[in-house]
Amino acid sequence: MTHLINADLHCHSTVSDGTLEPEALALRAKANGVDLWALTDHDELGGQARAMQAAHEAGIDYLTGVEVSVTFLHVTVHIVGLGIDPTNKDLLEGLRATRGGREERAREMAAGLAKVGIEGVFEGALKYVGNPELISRSHFARYLVEAGVCSDISAVFRKYLTEGKPGFVPHRWAALGDAVRWITQAGGMAVIAHPARYDFTPTQEYALFTEFKAHGGQGVEVLTGAHSPADALKYAGMCEEFGLLASRGSDFHSPGESRIDLGQLPDLPGNLTPVWELLQNRIH
Ligand code: AMP
Ligand code: MN
Ligand code: MN
Ligand code: MN
Repeated sequence: MTHLINADLHCHSTVSDGTLEPEALALRAKANGVDLWALTDHDELGGQARAMQAAHEAGIDYLTGVEVSVTFLHVTVHIVGLGIDPTNKDLLEGLRATRGGREERAREMAAGLAKVGIEGVFEGALKYVGNPELISRSHFARYLVEAGVCSDISAVFRKYLTEGKPGFVPHRWAALGDAVRWITQAGGMAVIAHPARYDFTPTQEYALFTEFKAHGGQGVEVLTGAHSPADALKYAGMCEEFGLLASRGSDFHSPGESRIDLGQLPDLPGNLTPVWELLQNRIH
């Protein structure tokens, strides 16, 4: 029964690297038939009160959310936290520390791009930044498309912003155990975001799931904008193997950029337990 809920538990606003305000996202979620929504900005809770209020006004259920940047085995992994208390001090402090190095990193990224003749990217990217503490590669990508360096966002990432490319700067984010602990101690549930996106060997991926579970993580995104049907099948199996709950979230960032809009994913496979079954008392 609960599988028939149209839940979308992963998306971004202008408070991180999305292009819509939390209020506009709530209206879009409502228009797209979402029943249960969570805004999960990167490393930041600044949009939570607005999102919750807007969800109430739109008449949809709300779970608080965040997407924490983690470094695991030298790879950036994202951990979504759902149902957290957005006033929890340790969580707020952990996220503040995680955001901390972003400006310096952005300046180094711009310096790397200047070396290949692309000047002024830090200032250009800033025009797209809604939250000065959250300069992201997405803002760089938007500016580089505007500047005509590439014709679309994914080309920018491919040519300039990924490992080994001129605008890529290796960065150390939060530790996996810390992120899971911040989330769970703030009353929330930790969920591995878009697992198919990480460049892990099967052994490394097994280590991620094993350690995540050992730290108290409980869920994994089976359905997300970045997953193919084969990925969904694979992670449905991982859910069962590791005794994890299944989540569903578009990872919507922007109309015209995101492949999947809010509320547009297929239903979770019926044999899986959805994360929201254990989050009933956290729904606002
Ligand atoms: P950052 O946290 O600054 O490293 O930026 C990561 C963000 O960049 C992700 O959350 C996505 O929104 C975006 N991103 C990463 N890889 C890609 C890609 N290949 N195409 C489009 N957006 C991407
Ligand atoms: Mn993003
Ligand atoms: Mn992510
Ligand atoms: Mn995301």
